[in-house]
Amino acid sequence: MGNIRFVTGDSKHERTLTFWEKLTFPQVLKGMGYTFKQMFRENVTLQYPEQKPVLGAEFRGRPVLVAEHGQERCVACGLCARACPPLAISMQAAETDDTKERYPATFEIDMLRCIYCGLCEEVCPEEAIVMSEDYDNVYLTRKDAIYDKQRLLVPTEQLKPRLDFLRRMRNPNFGVVYNFDPANNHHSVRNRSTATAHP
Ligand code: SF4
Ligand code: SF4
Repeated sequence: MGNIRFVTGDSKHERTLTFWEKLTFPQVLKGMGYTFKQMFRENVTLQYPEQKPVLGAEFRGRPVLVAEHGQERCVACGLCARACPPLAISMQAAETDDTKERYPATFEIDMLRCIYCGLCEEVCPEEAIVMSEDYDNVYLTRKDAIYDKQRLLVPTEQLKPRLDFLRRMRNPNFGVVYNFDPANNHHSVRNRSTATAHP
């Protein structure tokens, strides 16, 4: 009890009110005037969900699979599943006619587990999985929240802002320090327009 100090009305830090500040009504009128002024200012409140926010390409919504020429870019390497912290991704790889390439016969993401961290996008060597602008997903059952390959696939054209953003944000030293030749990167630059459809 000995260390407790009581603050009295005559503390030297207390602000002294002027005569007009001590009168109640002028202060009430001042407050109402301020509120009235705000009514004519531009409204910054978004009437969500009728009005949706404009999200930049940097926004990380739910992950989607990139579909190019009607086929997934994914080669079922499994890196994304390995990097995913909550183990939300699972897949089953199958062989293609190409001796070097596989494709995901099944690919699933459990959206109840996904924490939208973007690590799958970062590790993918094919730019085959990217973060989208989709964020307001509602599931009525747990099964609903498991997205299969068909639900995950989104055409490249719809993902262009994000893909352009990822290219812009790449490490600027990439290809300089290691004398990188894009022609040697068979996967990222390969033309899939002539690829045959998976069985
Ligand atoms: S965004 Fe993160 S949590 Fe979601 S699937 Fe990708 S790695 Fe997993
Ligand atoms: S890291 Fe990319 S290519 Fe590899 S399995 Fe995942 S989505 Fe497919």
